[in-house]
Amino acid sequence: MEKPPTEERTGRPIAVFSNSYARLPERFFARLAPTPATKPRLIKFNESLASELGVNAKGLEQDELAAVFAGNVTPPGAEPIAMAYAGHQFGGFVPQLGDGRAILLGEVLDRSGERRDLQLKGAGRTPFSRRGDGRAALGPVLREYLVSEAMHALGIPTTRALAAVSTGEPVYRDRQLPGAVLTRVASSHIRVGTFQYFAARGDLEAIERLSDYVIDRHFPEARNAERPRLALIRAVVERQALLIARWMHVGFIHGVMNTDNTALSGETIDFGPCAFMDLYDPATAFSAIDEFGRYGYANQPTIAQWNLARFAETLLPLLDPSPERAVKLASEAISAFASRYQEHWLAGMREKLGLYGNEDGDLDLVSDLLQAMHENDADFTLTFRRLCAAAADEKADADVRGLFANPGAYDSWAARWRSRQAVDEREPNARAKAMRAVNPAFIPRNHRVEQALDAAIESGDFSPFADLLTVLSRPYEDQAAFADYAKPPQTGERVFRTFCGT
Ligand code: AMP
Ligand code: MG
Repeated sequence: MEKPPTEERTGRPIAVFSNSYARLPERFFARLAPTPATKPRLIKFNESLASELGVNAKGLEQDELAAVFAGNVTPPGAEPIAMAYAGHQFGGFVPQLGDGRAILLGEVLDRSGERRDLQLKGAGRTPFSRRGDGRAALGPVLREYLVSEAMHALGIPTTRALAAVSTGEPVYRDRQLPGAVLTRVASSHIRVGTFQYFAARGDLEAIERLSDYVIDRHFPEARNAERPRLALIRAVVERQALLIARWMHVGFIHGVMNTDNTALSGETIDFGPCAFMDLYDPATAFSAIDEFGRYGYANQPTIAQWNLARFAETLLPLLDPSPERAVKLASEAISAFASRYQEHWLAGMREKLGLYGNEDGDLDLVSDLLQAMHENDADFTLTFRRLCAAAADEKADADVRGLFANPGAYDSWAARWRSRQAVDEREPNARAKAMRAVNPAFIPRNHRVEQALDAAIESGDFSPFADLLTVLSRPYEDQAAFADYAKPPQTGERVFRTFCGT
């Protein structure tokens, strides 16, 4: 018997949608349907995430999944919308950005009852597209898939990737490229820029509604505070402080920390020109559009704080009837970022070095290691990973010192490290084991990511992408079969620039 057309076969429920954002006032978004793709083909479907979300793909064939995750078939219960938002981009304010190439299909409650957004990225033009085509190229889709899933496996709050589908249509960037759609999962897509959108319009009522919504969805404990909206700012500050500290611990550079790319939930969002550092250099910046290194590695905490200040500003009129008092309260909440960040950062660095308890010299010990790494071009990830073995056995020092241009720089530091370790008398193997759980062996090294993207784009070969995804799903385990993926780039392989390539 002939199969009925795909549309009919997939018009059945894949999930129980429970849309709440679409219940907010109509000016918060635009309702629209995704633009169908000519020839959708499934590249990758994230089975384990699907089951976590209660997305039921059982019995669906590849072409049916492709049709759903290309936006060709809108599953029952979905209410596709493009969200409105504004944002500071590289310091300059743009009063209207919005989902120009992303469409929120709807929300589901996952297995643990958490509300999660399902969003198609690259599913066609929206009222916010401006001059863009609403489409995404294959490269950025695969990059976001790889890096967001890697971040998740590293234990860092992040949006996830549920599916990647190629559209069978070309997109035109600096050259013609294959098009694709990513299905992104987020605990919400509300950004600092969402608040700015309404603040720029003097729409205080919308800010009230939105802040109540964010409190209900992400920070219910703030509801009972004396000043719920101040509590909201504090809670958002806390999550950003933790998030940025976690980025710093693994050498992650976001690359476009605009306020529209700062999620209120505290998840990493928008993997454009993001990259991981190989050699440790705090000034590292990769993004081709970040001419002055505004969003370079070491600037990330400062930028996050700046973005949070933009968030707090939008809530000022709701904090206190007295403008002076409101500014004072908001400023205090934002200033707290620095110490909260520092605390998270140092706690994480202690763990990375296998140090227990707090000793006075800890900050110096950490800073001196980083400085020696910088001066000696040591690889960030490898240094910390090899220190794990050195914590168990001094003989392993040879592997660490070999990473330093002048190995003696390591020796003098290692002597101090060992005397600090002696303070807490931990069993050496237990210390090494704990360190291995926080110092990854595998990160998405840029040259590997580029290779995987190139193979897919140039020859339709998705096996390097699949391999890399597999390695990165268990970043803290030594995977002997994949030892090459732990290696830094050879001289000719180094990536110096990364592109948004939207
Ligand atoms: P981004 O820098 O990726 O965070 O995107 C910034 C803004 O540009 C957002 O409003 C996007 O929706 C919009 N945008 C990026 N690429 C496209 C595209 N291909 N078509 C339409 N809008 C886009
Ligand atoms: Mg963005």
